[in-house]
Amino acid sequence: MKNDAQTVTWRQTWQIFLRSVRLLERYTPGVFLSMGINSVVSAVTPYAAVIFSARIIDELAGARRADVLWRWVVIAVTVTGALALLQHLTTCWKKAREQTHYYNYSSIYKDKLLRMDFAELEKQETADLLAQIQQNENWAGYGLINVPYFFETLVQAAVGMIGAVVLCAGLFLTPAPAVTGPLKLLDGPVGLLALGSAILAPTALAPWLQGKSDEASSTEAMSAAATLGNRIYGAFGFLTYGAESVARALDIRMYDQQTLARHYVSENRVFSADGPIARVKAGKGGLMMAAAAGLSALTTGAVYLYVCLKAWAGAFGVGMATQYIGAVTALTGSAGVLLKELMNLRSTTRYIRRTFRFLDIPNSMYEGSLTTEKRSDRQYDIEFRDVSFKYPGSDTWALRHVDLRFKVGRRLAIVGENGSGKTTFIKLLCRLYDPREGQILLNGIDIRKYNYRDYMDIFAVVFQDFQLMSQPLGANVAGSAAYDRARVTKALTDAGFGDRLAALPQGLDTQLYRDYDGEGVQISGGEAQKIAIARALYKDAPFIVLDEPTAALDPMAEAEIYARFNEISGDRTAIYISHRLSSCRFCDEILVFDQGRIVQQGQHEELLAEAGGKYHELWHAQAQYYTAQ
Ligand code: ADP
Repeated sequence: MKNDAQTVTWRQTWQIFLRSVRLLERYTPGVFLSMGINSVVSAVTPYAAVIFSARIIDELAGARRADVLWRWVVIAVTVTGALALLQHLTTCWKKAREQTHYYNYSSIYKDKLLRMDFAELEKQETADLLAQIQQNENWAGYGLINVPYFFETLVQAAVGMIGAVVLCAGLFLTPAPAVTGPLKLLDGPVGLLALGSAILAPTALAPWLQGKSDEASSTEAMSAAATLGNRIYGAFGFLTYGAESVARALDIRMYDQQTLARHYVSENRVFSADGPIARVKAGKGGLMMAAAAGLSALTTGAVYLYVCLKAWAGAFGVGMATQYIGAVTALTGSAGVLLKELMNLRSTTRYIRRTFRFLDIPNSMYEGSLTTEKRSDRQYDIEFRDVSFKYPGSDTWALRHVDLRFKVGRRLAIVGENGSGKTTFIKLLCRLYDPREGQILLNGIDIRKYNYRDYMDIFAVVFQDFQLMSQPLGANVAGSAAYDRARVTKALTDAGFGDRLAALPQGLDTQLYRDYDGEGVQISGGEAQKIAIARALYKDAPFIVLDEPTAALDPMAEAEIYARFNEISGDRTAIYISHRLSSCRFCDEILVFDQGRIVQQGQHEELLAEAGGKYHELWHAQAQYYTAQ
């Protein structure tokens, strides 16, 4: 995170700000336009009252003409009414866009995560970076999410300043009539200089102090401490209360885990009144904030003094005096906001830069443009040519010299002990990673040359830790809300879920799980697995892979499912992965993995006959489970 700690220049702040605006505008079109217009209207609205009340007071204090007074009142009511209406309308528009922005915002990260190379996605570093970003945004709003806020306040402050300058120009341009004594100084350079410095010095100093105070409480160390504090609280504070508490309830009660959780939560003092954040806020940060507030009182005092003296000297009437006081106060207020928010933007840019560091993680996997042409004959042929693979950051080979060719329509089993490389083989087959050495070919062409989406379409994998969604059953199987009901029903029936489906009153429209629907059904592990298999069947891909999705089942149930699956796979290539040998006996070909290598290849009988072979060894080690068959 060294990069993040470096200070940001104004130039970088501006560049990153513009890039953020372009990015957010792409996700929520119109968000900046609505904010910009609303800010302009909000900035000028208060000035209408200042202008008209000055005219009315002047008339009342001077000529007191009824018709003129009436005219000013009518104009004042009309203009302020129209502005109030306009402000209301633009605020509604802005709020709607702003809400949409908050709603769309997370898509920026989601889209990146979906597009990212799988190897990057799996890295702890990537997860940490994202956690830091989310943490900073949730904790104090430091980050990209707040760019619209900065845009809004900066535009409003800038327009406010311009309006105030126009309204108070007369204060400096209207000379006091010939007066004597020290009042003469008011119009001269000395008076202007004194007023100028009384306005500018605190106006510049106050936000600077405020910015320093904010910076002091948002340093890297502080946000790192808050991240850790929040993580600990998130993990342990909700142990008996959060979403997972029911699933954890047995362990919690059995082992008194709540005591340990309470201990961690009470030890975690980051956010407490005597914690590091509170200490900074009460100490250095607090002092600076108090000094900033005190300084602005000085400015107000100086403005009152100058305007009153000039009015006293006869430069303008009481009405204009009100206008000038209003305008100069607004000027210093807007200038203060502008400076403060610019300082805040600059310190927030460090966090926004971190978001761009995440969004700019490059995709280094080469992706070609060849399509996998939907062949009606389904003649796909996959070849692993001397493939070796190490996981990023690992020194050991997860796969070594894997040579293999398989044609569509075959039943292939991959067996081996845990950690022997079976899942890695599937990950490479699905191109979640590229081999370090060797090549994987589809119909004789390196799989890197195919369009990735197209290539993925020829596989349907049921992963070990498959995930179903709290959505209707049919939508889960089809992967979309609109689907072919007859095909989904067939897929579920083929996967062995037919009887259960028939018993569900709402059939395919039954909600899975109860997260969003009290009427939802809680399905068992075995049922979930059948639904996951139905989902793979519905995809109707030429290659279907079962990567131990049955790990939670007993060996008999697993063997039954695999045997059934063998029947329903039809002309597809089916690849089964299991560390239970009995499940795969029926396959055309069995590959035995050991320490990343294919050590044996053949049919069950011949492999078993090779005494001293890995298969023989594994079979006998597991035989106790199968004697019942
Ligand atoms: P199997 O599916 O046969 O149980 P795997 O393919 O999951 O085996 O694992 C093969 C080897 O690769 C093991 O040594 C495992 O520890 C290692 N491995 C698996 N996944 C990762 C990963 N994401 N990062 C680093 N090493 C991994």
